Amino acid sequence: MASTLTVTVVGCSGSFAGPHSPASCYLIEAEHDGTTTRVVLDLGNGSLGALQRYADPTDLDAILITHLHPDHFIDLCGLYVLRKYHPTDTPDGRQVVYAPKDLFRRLQLAYYGKAELEESEHFDHRRVRDGQTIEVGPLRILAHRVEHPIEAYGYRIESPAGVVAFTGDTDSTSMLTPLLTGADLVFADAAFIEGRDEVRGIHLTARRAAEAVIEAGGVARFVLTHIPPWNDPEVSRAEAAELWSDVEVASAGARYVLSAE
Ligand SMILES: [Zn+2]
Ligand SMILES: [Zn+2]
Repeated sequence: MASTLTVTVVGCSGSFAGPHSPASCYLIEAEHDGTTTRVVLDLGNGSLGALQRYADPTDLDAILITHLHPDHFIDLCGLYVLRKYHPTDTPDGRQVVYAPKDLFRRLQLAYYGKAELEESEHFDHRRVRDGQTIEVGPLRILAHRVEHPIEAYGYRIESPAGVVAFTGDTDSTSMLTPLLTGADLVFADAAFIEGRDEVRGIHLTARRAAEAVIEAGGVARFVLTHIPPWNDPEVSRAEAAELWSDVEVASAGARYVLSAE
């Protein structure tokens, strides 16, 4: 039976929501052996709204959070409200969320202004560690620590239909090679601009993203993402295109489908 892996860009705006896109959020749907597995990667500000166009946010097999900056996780507060207070549809069990340490404490601080509970009734937080493999349905997900001012991970999602890799927020690091090598589809941070953003250890430029993809080798499609509203995406595209001519730029609502017989 054919397998497919569909990635829907729910939000791709860098660092905060923009006029045309929420912040970071990707819906990954795997069809395999007659079953559908749904995973959401990041739930940044504004993304819970748009996610409802594509999936029931209370019917996800797992949520993967790259790191605890608000443009990647803060809409878990809205998901908490949806799960806890929906007048008729209260979901069973707890939502599995793979994320760095302190996720639940941060959510409590954001929501209540204090962190007193040890466990959540609504979220099953599983702490991610560097090099960890996570199995969700037919998906094999590898987490690699990347280069950002706080604990941050990139995820490589392997499925029978192909491989999609997300750098998360990162600057250049050797960890990008095991994340990206041979991926059918790569979404790479391109928040910084060559010659403008000189600080290191936070984000890739589009050029550095292209260098990482070329260094990794075997990548089929390469998409720039996490571009903040104050950037011109065409400047980023031109930077990367010097090294990778058919580089793409993510947009909210775009869909990418991988398939195998
Ligand atoms: Zn970010
Ligand atoms: Zn960040």
